[in-house]
Amino acid sequence: MTASTAAPETIQKPHKHHILGLRKSDLVEELLSIGVPEKKARYHSRQIFHWLYQRKVTTFEMMTDLSKLVRGHLAEKFQIAPLPKVFHQKSIDGTQKFLFRLYDGKTIESVLIPAEDRLTICISSQVGCAMGCKFCLTGTMGLMRNLEVYEIVGQVLELSKLETISNIVFMGMGEPLHNLENVCRAIEILLAQDALNFSKRKVTVSTSGLVSAIRKMNDRLVGESRPNLAISLNGSYDAQREEVMPVNKAFPIADLLEACRDWHLEPHRRITFEYVVLGGLNDTVEDAARVTKLLRGIPCKVNLIPYNPHDGSDYKRPEHEAVLAMHRYLLDHDIAAMIRHSRGRDILAACGQLRSAVDAVARTRPHIAIADCNDGRVIGA
Ligand code: SAH
Ligand code: SF4
Repeated sequence: MTASTAAPETIQKPHKHHILGLRKSDLVEELLSIGVPEKKARYHSRQIFHWLYQRKVTTFEMMTDLSKLVRGHLAEKFQIAPLPKVFHQKSIDGTQKFLFRLYDGKTIESVLIPAEDRLTICISSQVGCAMGCKFCLTGTMGLMRNLEVYEIVGQVLELSKLETISNIVFMGMGEPLHNLENVCRAIEILLAQDALNFSKRKVTVSTSGLVSAIRKMNDRLVGESRPNLAISLNGSYDAQREEVMPVNKAFPIADLLEACRDWHLEPHRRITFEYVVLGGLNDTVEDAARVTKLLRGIPCKVNLIPYNPHDGSDYKRPEHEAVLAMHRYLLDHDIAAMIRHSRGRDILAACGQLRSAVDAVARTRPHIAIADCNDGRVIGA
């Protein structure tokens, strides 16, 4: 494992808007408002996206094919402020974790997870989380705030300057659907052709099951902006799920699965169900049988994630045999299932140093969900 710290790269100017938070349609409106004719405004918006996301420039002067007037206006009103990376760790398995400092001193993390055929970035959508899942240390810190659009986009943009990223998963800190509008806008930017041009098939939003927001997203992100959906199921019946995920009280399993059935899936696409296996709690073959029954008829795959223990939680890591037995049951009953391979474990240990060195958020963040976030690797049989 290696670690490094770096000084903030830029001072963000509080009085200027962040251009990285604007979609192409927002840029068009901005240009129209200063009298640029519509056709030209559309053309300029594509040019600006190209400069920001493909050439990755950091000043408006560098956008040399825009008129001085347009550049001047943009520079007057907006800033291009890269998110400052303040800490970096590399695991022996190649997983890299980055800590970004936000304008208000709070911090968030993003993780790069390499696999044979892909490089996945796992990004945060909030500082903290309001959902209070009992097995997740982020849940114990409560919600500090939602991330702005530019803070979500900025994680991907910054790390894309270092590596060629193929996949994005919203599985870092926070509940993405609790910050729905900003997450949707960020996805629209990340998927835009003139920007980072991610395919919708390579972007996954994971939710603890905010049913009303799943339904909103179903209507909100259509066509080429529509990402994959992942649901953190983590239980096989209501009382059990409710014990570890308070969200289940408002949105019980039946409602959640109804929203999944209503989610518009393209042919050959599937919803991912994540299932954190908690030792002695939800780790039996009977649980696997109930999950099989619940998911009947939903085109899906199941990721079994052995619980990663952390201080302050009494849950146990499951026996490997128990996870294998669940996996076997699901496969035998025609459910595509995987045991999620944990990555970056050694940098979990190193998080203790990060906690004391950086700030209070790092102190309360276990780096569990994100250091192990889904890279699609399969182990077990
Ligand atoms: N808030 C979203 C996305 C972030 S959590 C959600 O809950 O889906 C990403 C994944 O990490 C979720 O599937 C969550 O269930 C899982 N997770 C959280 N804490 C964990 C732990 N201690 N061990 C294993 N997986 C965990
Ligand atoms: Fe929030 Fe997801 Fe952790 Fe639950 S598992 S507390 S929703 S980050």
